Amino acid sequence: MFTAARLAVFVDGCFWHACPDHATQPASNAAWWREKLATNVARDRDTDARLTAQGWEVLRFWEHADMRAAAGLVEDAWRRRRAGLSSSGSPSTRPAPGEPAT
Ligand SMILES: [Zn+2]
Repeated sequence: MFTAARLAVFVDGCFWHACPDHATQPASNAAWWREKLATNVARDRDTDARLTAQGWEVLRFWEHADMRAAAGLVEDAWRRRRAGLSSSGSPSTRPAPGEPAT
């Protein structure tokens, strides 16, 4: 989470979040697992919707993704968000801890 830029970053596990490339359905307790994984995915979408509604940008990456490429995308989004947010700066915003004092 990058609070100042309202940027939320998630890395989703292929199994737990039902990645289209690597999702597997356990053979035992198949019905329970189907329900369980569907619930996880629904919760992901719900989380995305809530954050977006509050003005956050949500970035999700699969755990199989190239994390160096992902980090680059996060950095791009962060810079873009910071630039956009600071130009429309509301008077009530204050720098978050650790932020450059510029
Ligand atoms: Zn995957």
